[in-house]
Amino acid sequence: MVLALRKEWRGSMQHYVVLSRKYRPKDLSDLIGQDVLAKSLKSCLDNKKVPHAFLFHGIRGVGKTTTARILARCLCCIGLDGTTDITSTPCGVCRSCVAMDKEQHLDIMEFDAASRTGVDDIREVIEATQYAPVLGRYKIFIIDEVHMLSKSAFNALLKTLEEPPAHVKFIFATTEVQKVPETVMSRCMTFRLHPVSPDALAKHLIGIAQKEGYALEKDASALISEESEGSVRDALSVLEQALMFSAETKVITLDNVLNMLGGATSNDVNELLILILDAKTQEALKKSEELFAKGTDPYVLFKNMQNVLYRIIVNKVNGKVAEYSLSNLLYIWQIFLKQTENIKNASFPEYVLSATVIILSKTASFPDIERLMITERTPETPTNLSKVEQILGEKITPKPDTSKELVNNILNKFPGSTAREAG
Ligand SMILES: [Zn+2]
Repeated sequence: MVLALRKEWRGSMQHYVVLSRKYRPKDLSDLIGQDVLAKSLKSCLDNKKVPHAFLFHGIRGVGKTTTARILARCLCCIGLDGTTDITSTPCGVCRSCVAMDKEQHLDIMEFDAASRTGVDDIREVIEATQYAPVLGRYKIFIIDEVHMLSKSAFNALLKTLEEPPAHVKFIFATTEVQKVPETVMSRCMTFRLHPVSPDALAKHLIGIAQKEGYALEKDASALISEESEGSVRDALSVLEQALMFSAETKVITLDNVLNMLGGATSNDVNELLILILDAKTQEALKKSEELFAKGTDPYVLFKNMQNVLYRIIVNKVNGKVAEYSLSNLLYIWQIFLKQTENIKNASFPEYVLSATVIILSKTASFPDIERLMITERTPETPTNLSKVEQILGEKITPKPDTSKELVNNILNKFPGSTAREAG
């Protein structure tokens, strides 16, 4: 039975195309959250002022390779009659565009510098630049993760980059621009691709879910965007999992996504945080153990609790929260920041989770430092002194400075006093 199911699943997966590929933008106007870049490239293309080398840099999954391919498509489109000049809006139907869509374009070469770093690999590229284009007007070399090239490979490339044949364009992409030599950078038109804003990403995800026949709830989409930290590709792979997870209902809720990402539901997060802030150590510990046993990822749990705590702190500062002491909340926040980092790399995260819950809830039970300080400053209420005395079990009388120098200094001001005799 299991085997049969697996076979069926494999069969249905055979023609499956991942979302990031299925919905890969084909035009500059389709790029998500890269308006400045799209505008600049459009202007380059429309004014027919195209440099011979481009460099796109930015974090993973923001669309560097996608932009490189769109640019290549714009540069190679020849139009149905084969005479169209370079364009910012490729036709999509000419021989060049069709070949590009089928990933069979003979003039557009993609080279992964991460797996081919050596000088011999780059020599192949340099050699290929000598041949005239077959379909389009340009031969385009897209070199991904260009920072991975060895020093000698960069040196070999530099010569061609200085004086490339007129029909050659280079498009480099990298996640680590600081590793690209200055000599290469200075020969490229450089663009930074920004992490996509959570709002733009969330909107994009809802649109794609809709096209796939699913309803992606707003807060679920917001969570996926937040977790993806501006990377469209990461967001789409999470959405992909969410689609499979919710295949029966066709509705993706926040709790679906939380469960999938190893997080707890928002109710769980709120409950545990309040138990901590109310200094209910034992109950908080029990709740955290339950969540861990349920498969909750402590790192994700901490990040979500931090989120809620942050909102409580802001409301406290604005006078909207009466409960809890601000100094304690801020102290708890500091511990949270540190422990979230610690739990990320912990060998036994469950121990860090339990220990942190204990530390935090004990911290929450601390007296309000601000209130204590105010009381100490007010002379009318000497209750603190007596409390200290109670704790120490003895009467405390302030003592004057009786050091010999001080006494001598004072007495020396009065000629004929006993100090001189003493000195
Ligand atoms: Zn075309």
